[in-house]
Amino acid sequence: MDHLMEKLLQILFPRVCVSCEAYIEDLEPICTRCLTSVEVYEDIFKDEGFNIFSVGPYRNEILKTIIHDFKYKRILELESVLDKLISHYIFKNNIRFNKILCPIPLHKRKEKLRGFNQAQVITNILEKKGLGTMKNLLIRKIDTSPQAQIKDFRKRVKNIEGAFQLIDTNTPKDREIILVDDVYTSGSTIKEARNELLKNGFANVSVFVIAKT
Ligand SMILES: [Zn+2]
Repeated sequence: MDHLMEKLLQILFPRVCVSCEAYIEDLEPICTRCLTSVEVYEDIFKDEGFNIFSVGPYRNEILKTIIHDFKYKRILELESVLDKLISHYIFKNNIRFNKILCPIPLHKRKEKLRGFNQAQVITNILEKKGLGTMKNLLIRKIDTSPQAQIKDFRKRVKNIEGAFQLIDTNTPKDREIILVDDVYTSGSTIKEARNELLKNGFANVSVFVIAKT
């Protein structure tokens, strides 16, 4: 886009930051001040013996807004913001690997409703950065109630039980798998997907998310 056209668009459709609502000069969905105040972890976590790579903390309100607005308000320009944060994270932690990257699938009906799967978008970003090859190893065969609406941990586990099914038959079981999703809160969804992989013979399954609690 040429400069004049860009200027004109800014005058006609002034942009505000998704987080602080300040006007933004360029065509970014978030202002520099907010972007730089997202805490990026310099750490790799473990839960029940498996690695969790998380770009930042879920308690960070700006990071939460980025994820929420991308997923539910479909502000798709936020993909470039996720890309920047992921770059920062892998640089900070010196992450260099080549693994099978598997997005946590949505149920067909839900994906149609939302128009996209946010986990798939994040996986695409990781693939572009050379961290591995994307493979949709799983499908979601049960259209579960949204986990976020269930407060009781045991009910969350019950709700997601048996929701995933392995559909891949080619990937060697000794390959390391990274399950990719947007957030890790109670962990019940990701653990259920992970269990389906373990049950079918995969031995090494880690997790990559944008934010964890
Ligand atoms: Zn801002």
